[in-house]
Amino acid sequence: MKIDILKKRDGELLVGEVKKTSKFEVAAKMQLAYYLYRLKEQGIELDGELLVPKEKKRERITLDDALTQELETAIAEIETIINGDKPPVAEKTKYCGKCAYGDFCWS
Ligand code: SF4
Repeated sequence: MKIDILKKRDGELLVGEVKKTSKFEVAAKMQLAYYLYRLKEQGIELDGELLVPKEKKRERITLDDALTQELETAIAEIETIINGDKPPVAEKTKYCGKCAYGDFCWS
């Protein structure tokens, strides 16, 4: 877990996650939600802000019940993959071309 910034807005402490582009917004939102989730486990309840400075975008992220459920489902799916005997069969997606993990999937 590597939080980009902690910031105060109107006296409220927020966890900030900075991205170069909003292209992968769902993944960025889940990353920030994971930080909020882990902090909550430590007794620290904060909201977050997803920041895309180049696009002048700022989205508040609150770890509500629905987002917690979505995150726990994703974590369970990741754990199933980690604990499996074999990795799932890779499927080419539009993201593969620029993905840093390509060597793992296609070598
Ligand atoms: S190369 Fe990256 S985006 Fe493509 S399947 Fe592998 S991990 Fe997913």
